Amino acid sequence: MDEKERAMMEENKKKCICGSCPSYTECMRAGAELLFCVTGRSKDCKFDPKGCLCPACPVTKVLGLKKAYYCIRGTEQEQK
Ligand code: SF4
Ligand code: SF4
Repeated sequence: MDEKERAMMEENKKKCICGSCPSYTECMRAGAELLFCVTGRSKDCKFDPKGCLCPACPVTKVLGLKKAYYCIRGTEQEQK
């Protein structure tokens, strides 16, 4: 990943609203896991889906995303 991509990722991470999601867990918070739509599913955290805020997230608009539950199902490409 080059500098520009890294900066873009940091920008999007700041916009990620996973932290307010009912499905977000303490395990994810402990690992500062965010931006699952780009980085893929959560590796170690186990949880039950209780709703997903991704469709309302500004990053969804920026990246033109169409899916949700990236923390469980993986990135958009992985969900195809
Ligand atoms: S779309 Fe979902 S995973 Fe991606 S940044 Fe927004 S809230 Fe986070
Ligand atoms: S990816 Fe969706 S379901 Fe998972 S924590 Fe983020 S907003 Fe919630």
